[in-house]
Amino acid sequence: MKKFSWLLVLMLTLSFVLAACGGDSGGDGGEETTEDETTEEGESSGDGASGEGWVENITVLTGGEAGVYFPIGVAMADIIDSQLEDVSATGVSSGASVSNAEQLNNGEAQLALVQNDIAYYGVEGTNMFEEPLENYSGVLTLYPETIQLVTLADSGIESVSDLEGMRVAIGDVGSGTEANATQILEAHGLSESDVDAQYLDFADASTNLQDGNVDAAFVTAGTPTGAIQELSASADVKLVSFDQEAIDSLTEEYSYYTQHEIPADAYENFDSTATTVAVQAMVIASNDIPDDQMYEMTKALFENLDDLSNAHVRGEEVTLDTAQDGMSIDLHSGAQQYYDEQ
Ligand code: GLU
Repeated sequence: MKKFSWLLVLMLTLSFVLAACGGDSGGDGGEETTEDETTEEGESSGDGASGEGWVENITVLTGGEAGVYFPIGVAMADIIDSQLEDVSATGVSSGASVSNAEQLNNGEAQLALVQNDIAYYGVEGTNMFEEPLENYSGVLTLYPETIQLVTLADSGIESVSDLEGMRVAIGDVGSGTEANATQILEAHGLSESDVDAQYLDFADASTNLQDGNVDAAFVTAGTPTGAIQELSASADVKLVSFDQEAIDSLTEEYSYYTQHEIPADAYENFDSTATTVAVQAMVIASNDIPDDQMYEMTKALFENLDDLSNAHVRGEEVTLDTAQDGMSIDLHSGAQQYYDEQ
């Protein structure tokens, strides 16, 4: 709508005319009226839904475009954009979980997809976070994110310990994947310095695997993950299992990991199965979002779940019944209010 500057000029003129006629424009002479305020007034539905103090522009942080956060987060933004009269929402790509939590906390965005383990570390100020992040809370959990170790079928890599000295993509800088990769290496007796770690997003990891520039890649995402799917269309790939002993120590030490079997039909082009671990994807919201706005946004999401299933098959797992499974932090009070009424 901002593209139509002529329309804005017209609306501005109209609001001056209304003010002059004693209409309730909300402005006092118009000199403080911003483009957004004018637009809001111009579009106001007048149906009694209060927009008082609402955040008009909602940025939804996702992940890299070859992941699952991206299509799901963009679909969420589209739902909010279309269902809330005076609110625009946009889904944007990002470095994923860790940077999403930090950006949300800094007020740079309003909603974000993150892993439930990372959301918890942020609130607690542990692991990769130096101090507690106090400005976000939970909205809903989404679907399991599988920690996948991908390599070419003929790489000779059969277990995590084979990664020693290898070139390993461990996720983008600021991703949850990086945190998981480090913990999984450690559970197998390796540290990040025992491998030649490369900070690559899923798309770059996949291209570099195919070109022979990296030997393996960690990917924490819902299956099928776009990047792996694309890679497997042009190369023979396999998923590597984690050692049972390492899985046991991981699930014991970090409560958000659960053992997970990747089934043969997780990907169309190959039938590699693997025993790994999973965390849960979830949505967090800035505490700057007023409760009544958060209530309406939560409601809009649950009333349009089909749009999430259409965006990615993992979207089918988002339901009201499971929305608190694996919830690792306190809920936003506007979201809580919505659940209380169901
Ligand atoms: N869970 C991943 C991360 O935070 C991102 C997953 C995705 O983009 O779908 O690193």
